[in-house]
Amino acid sequence: MPQLAQRVGRAKPSAIMLIAEKAKQLKAAGRDIISFSIGVPNFLPGEHVYAAARDALSRDSGQYGSNRGSDDLLDAFLKHIEALGFAGYGKMNLSIGIGAKQVLYNLAEALLNEGDEICFAAPYWTTYHDIVDIVGAKANVLHCGPQQNYKLTPAQLETALQRKPKVFLFNNPSNPTGMVYTREEIAALADVLVKYPDTWIVTDDIYNSMVFDSIGYHNFVFARPELRDRLVFVDSVSKTYGMPGWRVGLIAGPESVAKAVTTLNSNHITSVPEVITAAAVAAFAGPQDIPQAKCAEFAHKRDVVVEALAAIPGVVCPRPQGAFYAFPDISVAFGKQHNGVTIHNDVDFCAALLEATGVACVPGSAFGEPRAMRISYTCPTAQLEPGLKRIQAFFAELT
Ligand code: PMP
Repeated sequence: MPQLAQRVGRAKPSAIMLIAEKAKQLKAAGRDIISFSIGVPNFLPGEHVYAAARDALSRDSGQYGSNRGSDDLLDAFLKHIEALGFAGYGKMNLSIGIGAKQVLYNLAEALLNEGDEICFAAPYWTTYHDIVDIVGAKANVLHCGPQQNYKLTPAQLETALQRKPKVFLFNNPSNPTGMVYTREEIAALADVLVKYPDTWIVTDDIYNSMVFDSIGYHNFVFARPELRDRLVFVDSVSKTYGMPGWRVGLIAGPESVAKAVTTLNSNHITSVPEVITAAAVAAFAGPQDIPQAKCAEFAHKRDVVVEALAAIPGVVCPRPQGAFYAFPDISVAFGKQHNGVTIHNDVDFCAALLEATGVACVPGSAFGEPRAMRISYTCPTAQLEPGLKRIQAFFAELT
C-alpha cells in the first residue's frame, strides 16, 4: 500500500468539532442539548450584504479574479483598518485568503522554514498548533494560566524572544479566553518586541470589533510604529459581520509578506469568487450597526456567564472583555465523582457534563490549558441561563 504523507499524521481533527459532533448526535437521538461548544456568531449579516451578493451574481463575469483580492475589496479593507487605527497602508500591503484560517496557513508557509521556531501564548486557538505541525515548524508555547488572567507578560515574551524565534504569533481578543489586552499592556509588550528585530510578528485580531468595557482595540504598531516593517495584522469577516461561512480573511503587513501570500494564493486558491468579494465589500463599507449591537449583546451575555460561574465554589474565571468566550478553571472538579464516574481531567469533565446535562463545552486541553474548559456564549439568549444553571447543578452533584 502507498503511504499518506507524514504531514497528514501531524494534523489532528479539531477537538472542537468532535464535541460539536457528539452534541449533534445526542440531539438527533432526542436529547435536549445546549451547545456552548462552537465559536460561530449566532447572527447573519445585514440585508445590504445579501443585496450586494445578489447584484454581483446578476453581473458575474465567471472569470478568475485577482490573487491579492479585488481593488474594491482592498479599498474597503484599507478604510476599515484605518478606522481601527492602522495608518499609512496601501493596497500593496494587503492580501486575501479563504478566511483567516487559510491566511494563517499561508503566513506559516511564507514565514517558516521546517524546524523554525514560532512562539505563542497558551491558551491558544487550537488551529495554531496544527498549522505549525503541518508546516514542520517548532512551537514554543508560553503558558499563561488563570493567575495571570491568561495574558502574556513582557518578561515571558522577553525570555521567548531571546531564543530568536522566526515568528511571534499573538491573538487579541483571545479565543478561547475572551481576554483583551489594554493599551498599556500592548505598549509594554511592544517595548520588548522592538528589541528583537529578527522575529516576525503576526497579530490574529479577528475579534477586534468585539471589545467590551471601553478598553478599545490596540495593536503593537499603534504603540511602536517602527514595528510595521515586520508585523502582519490578520482580520476576517467571519466574526465581525456574522459571515463565517463566506470565507474571507485579509492581511495588512509589509509589502514583501503581502506579495508572498499573494504568490501562494496564485498556487493554492487563485482568487476569492466575485459574489463573495462583493458581499465582503458591502460588509466592510456598509453600515456597522449590526456588529455594534452584537458587541453590546455579547457584553451583556458575558456578565450573565461570569456571574453564574462566580457562584460555583472553587471555579475561577478571569473576566473576559471581548470575543464571545469564557474560560473557567474547573480543576476543582478533578478527582471527584459524578454519578459514580470519576472525573480525572477536563476531557472527562466535558464528557460527563454533556452526558448528564446535555450542555456541550470544549475541554481546555484542546487550547493547551487542561485545567479549564471553554464556554462559547453565542447560543440564543434564552438558552444561556438554563445552560449555566445545568453547569451549576452538575458541580453541586459532585462528590
Ligand atoms: N483566528 C481565531 C482566533 C479564530 O477564533 C478563528 C475562528 N474560530 C480564526 C482565526 C479563523 O477564522 P476564519 O473563519 O476567518 O477562518
